[in-house]
Amino acid sequence: MSKYNLLQEKVLVLNKYYQAIQITTVQKAICHLVKGTAKVITTDWTTHSFEEWIKISKFYENGNGKMIKSPSVAILVPDAIYLPYYESLPKTEVVFSRQNLLLRDKFRCQYCGKLLKNPKDRTIDHVIPKSRGGKTVWTNVVLCCKKCNLKKGNRTPEEAGLKLLKPPKEPKWHSLILEEFPKHKKETWKVFLNFAGILED
Ligand SMILES: [Zn+2]
Repeated sequence: MSKYNLLQEKVLVLNKYYQAIQITTVQKAICHLVKGTAKVITTDWTTHSFEEWIKISKFYENGNGKMIKSPSVAILVPDAIYLPYYESLPKTEVVFSRQNLLLRDKFRCQYCGKLLKNPKDRTIDHVIPKSRGGKTVWTNVVLCCKKCNLKKGNRTPEEAGLKLLKPPKEPKWHSLILEEFPKHKKETWKVFLNFAGILED
């Protein structure tokens, strides 16, 4: 992986209460570290200043960890940073958008469960059809494959003999970010996200 890509990798940001509040890039995380406004946090909940992190990184220099290297210094790419002075709380509302709907429904048709890798196969279904007063809200909209959508037509799932995998709900931001996060970092992130009891299972 090139240096450029490493700098754009995602880093989880925790506020002073150890709550995950947002995602940033490695590049921005390093700026915070250099300024002293952030520390690297590891899954054992230890925080490390920039100087300490450089020392830790030296142990990993020839290992498998991803390193950002400059002529003078090598830094292990952090998975998460901690902002000891930052008090903002996590976002609670998830914006209603097509992208977030895809993430909530994990790219699967909510009737037959098919994984819809191809954007062309994806349709948005109103559980209670629009023509019958169904609203465009989290609790009435699901991802649906073309086949199921055609079968359902202008009917309710019961009328069409279809069954939803689960009732659609407004997603939690924290479960959405896990969907977006690269697999190799998921386990690290889960430690921080589970801490506040905000992960649904
Ligand atoms: Zn389907």
